[in-house]
Amino acid sequence: MSNTKGRETLGFQTEVRQLLKLMIHSLYTNKEIFLRELISNASDAADRLRFEALAEPSLLSEDADLAIRVEYDKDARTLTVVDNGIGMSRDELIENLGTIARSGTADFLKQMTGDQQKDAQLIGQFGVGFYSSFIVADKVTVETRRAGLSDDKGVRWESDGQGEFSVETFVRSERGTAVTLHLKDDELEFCEPLRIENLIRRYSDHIAFPIALADSSKDDEEPDIVNAATALWTRPRSELSDNEYQEFYKHLSHDFADPLMWSHNRVEGKREYTSLLFIPSNAPFDLWNREAPRGLKLYVQRVYVMDDAEQFLPLYLRFVKGVIDSADLPLNISRELLQQHPELTSMRNALTRRVLDMLSKMATGSPDDYQKFWSAFGQVLKEGLVEDHKNKKKLAKLLRFATTRGGNDTQDQSLDDYIGRTAKDQDKIYYILADNYATAVASPHLESLEKKGIEVLLLTDRIDPWAVDNLAEYEGKSLQDVARVDLELPEGEGKITQDAINDEHKPLLKKIKKVLKERIEAVNVSRRLVDSPACVVAGADELNPQLRRMLEASGQAMPESKPILEVNIKHPLVTRLSAESDDARFTALSNIVLDHALLAEGSQLQNPADYVKRMNKLILELDSDASSG
Ligand code: ADP
Repeated sequence: MSNTKGRETLGFQTEVRQLLKLMIHSLYTNKEIFLRELISNASDAADRLRFEALAEPSLLSEDADLAIRVEYDKDARTLTVVDNGIGMSRDELIENLGTIARSGTADFLKQMTGDQQKDAQLIGQFGVGFYSSFIVADKVTVETRRAGLSDDKGVRWESDGQGEFSVETFVRSERGTAVTLHLKDDELEFCEPLRIENLIRRYSDHIAFPIALADSSKDDEEPDIVNAATALWTRPRSELSDNEYQEFYKHLSHDFADPLMWSHNRVEGKREYTSLLFIPSNAPFDLWNREAPRGLKLYVQRVYVMDDAEQFLPLYLRFVKGVIDSADLPLNISRELLQQHPELTSMRNALTRRVLDMLSKMATGSPDDYQKFWSAFGQVLKEGLVEDHKNKKKLAKLLRFATTRGGNDTQDQSLDDYIGRTAKDQDKIYYILADNYATAVASPHLESLEKKGIEVLLLTDRIDPWAVDNLAEYEGKSLQDVARVDLELPEGEGKITQDAINDEHKPLLKKIKKVLKERIEAVNVSRRLVDSPACVVAGADELNPQLRRMLEASGQAMPESKPILEVNIKHPLVTRLSAESDDARFTALSNIVLDHALLAEGSQLQNPADYVKRMNKLILELDSDASSG
């Protein structure tokens, strides 16, 4: 070890330690994926070197044929994945193989349950990469040298995956990285050439660089190339099997599950490019993290240019994974230049359309898959209604809802399904917004619609208030919130004005308004209630209460707004209220009626203590009524 210096022992970041522990336990049944992950890293390293060499050709000159070699050594019980790619400097090595840089990781790891199957799926959504080596190895050695650095800047990293790793600098004549797994006693199958070859063919055939399989004890033999070694997207669709697409997707996305669908296209003519786009089946753990990387992997004439090129698709399609290989963009394009490139808008429009068409096809052709897609990404797709007005019609067809017909919270009804069931004279699409399904279905606002057999969409996602606002209408039918003061139902009552109905009960309404004047805007006789005594509705131009609550929760100051109270004149409680001659009791009862209407729509009472006091008093009065009676 005379040529090594500066040996340092460092601790893994806490998140890495946790991940290692969880992974070894929960991924054991998929243990062979480590090879796919290591080869995938090797291929990325080769891609990155080729890219850097565009600006600095000397980086490639010492060894221009980029390739990957998998070496096994039965005597030493090791398996080594070698690449001559970009390599890592000492600092990069410590950063890359000692920490996890993705924000939200700690929270994500907290979700682990200890249930092997569930955790495996969660970790699959996270993507494990290099650390998966420790499923089959009790020690891992990484030797690497960054392209462009001199021989004496080689670095060796070593760890047993328990909590610490060591790094030391040494002289390494080859550029790139060798990852050596010292296999556990019961994992020696990964020293068997046939087993390794099968794994490479199954998982890594699509890797664009040649992968050779070599016996390290036989240095003089020319190793076999095991894979097809052409960029998958450059091959004709007819030649590619589903399995090849699926494995390519996993390499690209680090997802463990198969994608739901993909679309592979070559565009020729004025501009030329190939795109291969995938719809994943599970949401990644950081789908809601605004800073999470998203976008396509960009190649220019087969040369890798950048990961996560988010410019090619709108934010609401951030779940799409894929590659784009352009023949026209300059190889040295930066993110900023890409953003301004004149070709970008038309490419982005075309790719957006392609994704939406793919989803329409899935929705009609494989409804079960579409349902899976919708539960993973429906909420994200709805952002499109706000973000992408041009495609509103296409997006509207892709929406799925829970409705009062369904009897459960599954969002599986389209607007076309809904319209197909409506009566001829119903010119509106009715919906209710609520914080959750239970509040929505139990809402008093639905009562008269239910009685008339009118179906109502139950909207409970955070994005829904914005989404319906932007959608506004579908197929000539406007969307109507059933909790608005101006609700109009088909047939009958619509023709009688609210004023006319109120007129019959003027004294009662006046009295209620008087005692509740601080808390309500107005009080009306309700046309929508059947079983409940009262409900609150929003004025036609008011912000709806869900949106208001969300904005308030996010710290925005909201202008004060009072609801409109509606009372069900046929309800015994309202009859009772009407007959109450004691002023104090009338006030207390009116307040309670309003409190209950607010609670039923999921609002919080501004003064819950007052409410509790009123209720307690009322209960005690009941008691004394009973004992005196
Ligand atoms: P991921 O590949 O998902 O980023 P990994 O844990 O597999 O996560 O790897 C972490 C980082 O280590 C990579 O992003 C890359 O920068 C670096 N790395 C891993 N393997 C290699 C390699 N063979 N050559 C160069 N860098 C590598």
